[in-house]
Amino acid sequence: MSHQTESEEEYFLRQEIEKKREAVKKRQSELAEEERERLKELHWMRCAKCGAELHEVVFNGVKVDKCFSCGGVYLDDGELEQLVGKPGWFESMSRLFR
Ligand SMILES: [Zn+2]
Repeated sequence: MSHQTESEEEYFLRQEIEKKREAVKKRQSELAEEERERLKELHWMRCAKCGAELHEVVFNGVKVDKCFSCGGVYLDDGELEQLVGKPGWFESMSRLFR
């Protein structure tokens, strides 16, 4: 077996190894994406504290997610700022959402 032949074999083997390595990397990134999707599906509109289903209640034009199991109240990003601009919202929310 000459040195040239050996190099050629190595070349093709290296290509094969590279291909497999890339395939594993691609699969791992797909699995990470699938896991993110799975977690989102699992936790979507679920209470972070007790896991019960959340119910949307429109309050002062803001969609508030309320857990009627443990009493938790959830606001999306930016919603607290929207409420702060409305006078009396805190007292009103305290009465309604207790
Ligand atoms: Zn809850």
